[in-house]
Amino acid sequence: ATSPGQPPREAATHCPYCALQCGMVLRDSAGRVEVLPRDFPTNRGGLCQKGWTAAELLDHPERLTTPLLRGPDGRLRPATWAEAYDRIVTGIRGLQAAHGRDAVAIFGGGGLTNEKAYALGKFARVALRTRNIDYNGRFCMSSAAAAGMRAFGVDRGLPFPLADLGRADTLLLVGANPAETMPPLARYLTEQRERGGRLIVVDPRVTATARLADLHLQPLPGTDLAVANALLHLALTEGWVDREYVASRTEGFDAVRRIAAGWWPARAERLSGVPVADLEAAARALGTARNVIILTARGAEQHAKGVDTVSAFVNLALALGLPGRPGSGYGCLTGQGNGQGGREHGQKADQLPGYRKIDDPAAREHVAAVWGVNPDDLPGPGVSAYELLDSLGTPDGPKALLVFGSNPVVSAPRAARITGRLRDLDLLVVADFLLSETAELADVVLPTAQWAEEDGTMTNLEGRVLRRRALREPPPGVRTDLRILADLTTALTAPSALPALSAPSAEVVAGDPSYRFLPSRGPLQPPDTAADSADSADPRVVFAELRRASAGGLADYAGVTWERIDAADGVFWPCPDEDGPDSPRLFADRFATPNGRARFHPVEHRPAAEEVCDEYPLYLTTGRVLAQYQSGTQTRRVGALRRAAPGPFVELHPDLAARLGVEEGDELLVRSRRGELRAPARVTATIRPDTLFTPFHWGGDGRANSVTNDALDPVSRMPEFKVCAVRVEKVTP
Ligand code: SF4
Repeated sequence: ATSPGQPPREAATHCPYCALQCGMVLRDSAGRVEVLPRDFPTNRGGLCQKGWTAAELLDHPERLTTPLLRGPDGRLRPATWAEAYDRIVTGIRGLQAAHGRDAVAIFGGGGLTNEKAYALGKFARVALRTRNIDYNGRFCMSSAAAAGMRAFGVDRGLPFPLADLGRADTLLLVGANPAETMPPLARYLTEQRERGGRLIVVDPRVTATARLADLHLQPLPGTDLAVANALLHLALTEGWVDREYVASRTEGFDAVRRIAAGWWPARAERLSGVPVADLEAAARALGTARNVIILTARGAEQHAKGVDTVSAFVNLALALGLPGRPGSGYGCLTGQGNGQGGREHGQKADQLPGYRKIDDPAAREHVAAVWGVNPDDLPGPGVSAYELLDSLGTPDGPKALLVFGSNPVVSAPRAARITGRLRDLDLLVVADFLLSETAELADVVLPTAQWAEEDGTMTNLEGRVLRRRALREPPPGVRTDLRILADLTTALTAPSALPALSAPSAEVVAGDPSYRFLPSRGPLQPPDTAADSADSADPRVVFAELRRASAGGLADYAGVTWERIDAADGVFWPCPDEDGPDSPRLFADRFATPNGRARFHPVEHRPAAEEVCDEYPLYLTTGRVLAQYQSGTQTRRVGALRRAAPGPFVELHPDLAARLGVEEGDELLVRSRRGELRAPARVTATIRPDTLFTPFHWGGDGRANSVTNDALDPVSRMPEFKVCAVRVEKVTP
């Protein structure tokens, strides 16, 4: 911190929260850090309440500043870094010796910088040589990513700059509520409407965004796909399909056309509840406008048919000739701060850096050469996030888990079951700067630096690579995630480098219930690579290696330098050449498929994995509120945000409330086949009478994911967060 009398220190950086990555300046005046908005293309000087208050956590009294170890009494107690590393390294060695390399798993996060996501993937594949790594982005973006990949050959959330939204004549938002989740983005919506554009919103709730819309379609949760097919049906019958575009730039339309032909608007109305007149009005606005943009977000994507649902809207966009046309297109609104970059650099179970497939021999060869290892020694693909979490502690599953930047106790579906799996582990390590619900269960907690205390890069929802700049050093006792990964790599691959490490004796282990793992049965062979140097904790060095590893891949960062980012408002990938252009707009001439054509995918509506019945007669859907972010570990501890959104609630329609005798504020008990939650009633006509809504930012009794469904999409392995069958009753005091 600066001292009194010294000039304030400033850093031009970005908000630590969502994928809009709003520009901000952090100013340290004699140790007091304030946030100032900064003009940046995504926020144009605006910030939401979360951004304004982001600095409050830097000196928060609950901040972790020392490692914690679970002691023989079952409690977490402060420890030294050497003790913490000793517990981790000894545990990993013992478990891998007893059960094999895959006994250790990694769970990452979509908020980690590009450098951390890359380092985490490398740590898993090279230092641990485990196939078991995945991350919480699987719960966020994976359905849109898979649909984009199969249609366009590449997955970049928005294949055009955000500013294009303000110029769209018609903008269709499906399952997206940016007015509440990304408020500065709403200015583009206002601008679009002031220019005479039409905004159409598809959402089961009358959200803040739906209130801005010219037309709001309010379908039953889980029926968006049918709505999309009906819109395509109308485009076909009204002659709005761009036949020249379809013929010259796409393939596979005939199969899609045959399915759409059967989706008469009246059929879609019966299923979804969206009136035929509204479907016709929406189709006309889409089919007759010049510049049209279609966007999906989690409301459409977090389903066991999420990939097919997104594909249905991609099909519609392709039939109308939108992708690649200036001012038009299809895109997805990424949620987490580095949701885009987080899925490009290798922390996904099936990927290597550069968005390469881990089972592609050429990809393995390239990345292994950068890492200095034998490609045959790289593990193969692991399982997806939920499958990984659900296998923890089982006879064939991992026995140890290292968590970076995630809180699955709150954010995973069927959360009680996953909490049980975490408890069954022999070793749970959590790196975080606050004691999240997951950290509370850990054997070892490692205190990490915050966003204002380290440099790095993030990739926002536009595929724009940005600089996160440090304002100050981490407090004493705290280390960066990169430092931790470098230290553990050194300890695991070159044991002599850390003389303080020692394996506990079998007697110590037997007498110490805190050592839940087995003692080592002998040293493991280090991988065929030299131990990482101290440089591997330097984000600039890691980014230079990331560029080499990504070169030639789909997400090619080879031409992105920190200097180049500094000289402009970021750099859009792919950018293969330092002296060549970057790529703000994709698909102008060709798609990233082998033959350059976009691919239609025939997709049919299918019911939700769980439909309502006599026992569970209502649908439940989940989502976010403005003042909270993700699992709430951070935002629940910020005073202004806590006052604005103090706790969970359950929205229900006045008709349903009257039937149940429920009044505003009554405590409700919501049960599904998997569990229950308790929260006060919020009676509102903004929700359908057959549907309940609850936000997912809280743990404890009001945890939304206690009831959500763990049915998975067959392609993306996305859980069905957005619809499940429940019953509700008033809790009588
Ligand atoms: Fe911007 Fe998102 Fe941060 Fe709000 S939370 S200030 S919208 S980046």
